[in-house]
Amino acid sequence: MLLKSSNSLSRPKNYPTNKAPSSKSLKFWLSLILALFFASPLISPPLSFGQTSAPKTIGLKVLPQPLDRGTAGWVELEEGGVDCQGRFDQRPIFFFLAPKIDKTPGRTPGSRWVGLFGADIMLKPGQYPLTVSCPGQEGLKFSVVVREKTYGLRNIKVPHGQVDLSPENLERAAREKKLVDKALATTSPDKLWRGAFLEPVKGQVNSSFGRQTKINGVLNPRPHAGADYLVKTGTPVKAPARGQVILTGDHFFSGQAIYVDHGQGLLSMYFHLSEIMVSDGQMVEKGDIIAKSGQSGRVTGAHLHYGVYLNGARIDPIPFRKMTNQF
Ligand SMILES: [Zn+2]
Repeated sequence: MLLKSSNSLSRPKNYPTNKAPSSKSLKFWLSLILALFFASPLISPPLSFGQTSAPKTIGLKVLPQPLDRGTAGWVELEEGGVDCQGRFDQRPIFFFLAPKIDKTPGRTPGSRWVGLFGADIMLKPGQYPLTVSCPGQEGLKFSVVVREKTYGLRNIKVPHGQVDLSPENLERAAREKKLVDKALATTSPDKLWRGAFLEPVKGQVNSSFGRQTKINGVLNPRPHAGADYLVKTGTPVKAPARGQVILTGDHFFSGQAIYVDHGQGLLSMYFHLSEIMVSDGQMVEKGDIIAKSGQSGRVTGAHLHYGVYLNGARIDPIPFRKMTNQF
């Protein structure tokens, strides 16, 4: 078939003309060039996660900054991770793989290596080093600012007989402390949980985490290391996340208590229970009923004490729960 003469071909719509570009289109092209110029250093080749070789570069973020004492933060690596280990306030940081938060429609989010760390409730405000060591890249050092947060102080007066423990109770409390300290030192290697922690019970939670108490004018050096949910005896208590029960018992101070290991040094605990429905060594899934709340141990009324420790750092479980939905 013969082609029609060129005269009959219509000019493509975008065909350049001799007309001078308008200032509007000049602005457009200029801003596009500038945008590409500034964006180019951020464009990196696709990352291969799960690799165990030494990372070439480590893009690292420590969030949030500054960090309130008694809360958790996280460090993020762009590459590597599985063989990296971090350290903050003399506590280890373990890394796990988590999806990147990318809410762009239609885009599959990539992955990132995340390590959680806690600023203990009694950590003095100031600047602290956070170090990360990976094969081939030892001692990467970053700075974390821990700031003061006021958690309150209460004064209570109680008859001396209730403060001073009998020799038998002193001995019992010391024996139980040994068991608890051993449980608290658990650092199993794998992260067992995924996604947002649940609330162990639904109910009013008071803001007593971190609060210190003066008993008859004498300061108790141990602050309150948990959140108290004001629920009546017999309320079912759920495991907030997957984990393994590492200790159950009936203790002098904590009453009937459960300690759960969620992996990589993340532990949760439940005190003053009326019934324990799990046993040592048992795996629990997120949402499983593990106990019923009560008022056992040394308490003034029925409530659930819920605590979270991160490699020994005592952190507020309420802001921590909000943080977990990213991982
Ligand atoms: Zn409590």
